[in-house]
Amino acid sequence: MSRNYSSRKRILVTGGAGFLGSHLIDVLLGQGHELLCVDNYFTGTRDNIAHLRGHERFEFIRHDVTFPLYVEVDEIYNLACPASPVHYQHDPVQTTKTSVHGAINMLGLAKRLGARILQASTSEVYGDPAIHPQTEDYWGNVNPIGPRSCYDEGKRCAETLFFDYHRQHALEIKVMRIFNTYGPRMHPSDGRVVSNFIVQALKGEPITIYGDGQQTRSFCYVDDLVRGMVLLMESPADFTGPVNIGNPGEFTILELAEKVIAMTGSRSELIREPLPADDPKQRQPDITLARSRLGWEPSVALDQGLERTIAYFRATLDL
Ligand code: NAD
Ligand code: UDP
Ligand code: UDP
Repeated sequence: MSRNYSSRKRILVTGGAGFLGSHLIDVLLGQGHELLCVDNYFTGTRDNIAHLRGHERFEFIRHDVTFPLYVEVDEIYNLACPASPVHYQHDPVQTTKTSVHGAINMLGLAKRLGARILQASTSEVYGDPAIHPQTEDYWGNVNPIGPRSCYDEGKRCAETLFFDYHRQHALEIKVMRIFNTYGPRMHPSDGRVVSNFIVQALKGEPITIYGDGQQTRSFCYVDDLVRGMVLLMESPADFTGPVNIGNPGEFTILELAEKVIAMTGSRSELIREPLPADDPKQRQPDITLARSRLGWEPSVALDQGLERTIAYFRATLDL
């Protein structure tokens, strides 16, 4: 899409070299905007944005969001933060700093510029939920001192900061609670369940089921998620969220493993490994709010999304 100077926005995406951020950048460039990608390459990769090198409306800055950032933009999507348990537990202090100091710096930047800012929050703010499916008014059941706390509490504190900047400084904020999302450009070794199972199945290695595999998750395909993110950013100023974005289709981990095996034609066996500490037993978004305020709902079923993701891993890993 071509835009003239007055309708073209300068948009900052932090964490833009990651899985979700790189897809978001593709969509926003496709809408004709100017994109500034900020990332420290902790879990993101050059490959995710390699196709954008030389694009006239794309710019990359290698930067850690825990340090101040002075740039000029109209809108900010704050996605910088490792998202998989393996990565966010690798350096938990840095994870909390990224969520909290990163939020303060990006909110300070938004305040100076009068820019609208969106936070990529997470279903982890609900912890191991006592309410099912989860609605936005549920306050959660989170362990403040466990191995997942650096991520969960960091994200909760970031939400607090967003709402305080909104109340105290009249900042235009959008808070999005993202449920498990999968698709091409997930890191093959980041330990998340969809990428793990697909890579294991394609390599003919055992599929690692943590615990009894009866815990549930709801999996959203990346294209649906990114569409919801842009709709939220463009929603009326009085709609701050928090809003759940995810696919309500709920599956046990064992069901997911069986699907992946069937779709890849793999002969991998299932093996049991210990359930990680504080692993939530169930998770399913209630998306009534997203439907009514954003007119959003997911359109890609798990089978379709898995097919595309399997094709991606086959091609990139040469399997
Ligand atoms: P990802 O790990 O692929 O992307 C995160 C990006 O942030 C990476 O490119 C990484 O290098 C960058 N980053 C990390 N720390 C940084 C720092 N201090 N400074 C600058 N950049 C930094 O993960 P993703 O799945 O794309 O997740 C993106 C965002 O969405 C994260 O904030 C995550 O918490 C949130 N989220 C994702 C999911 C999901 O299922 N994918 C679910 C809930 C929330
Ligand atoms: N900040 C930034 N870029 C800016 C403006 C601010 O990175 O353009 C950072 C700066 O480090 C500051 C933080 O955002 O400490 C919070 O800014 P705010 O104005 O809210 O508070 P301050 O700490 O300056 O009083
Ligand atoms: N899981 C699993 N095997 C794996 C990776 C994950 O059984 O190889 C389980 C994990 O214990 C959890 C679910 O799959 O119950 C989703 O894990 P993931 O790390 O993808 O996301 P999160 O726990 O943050 O929802």
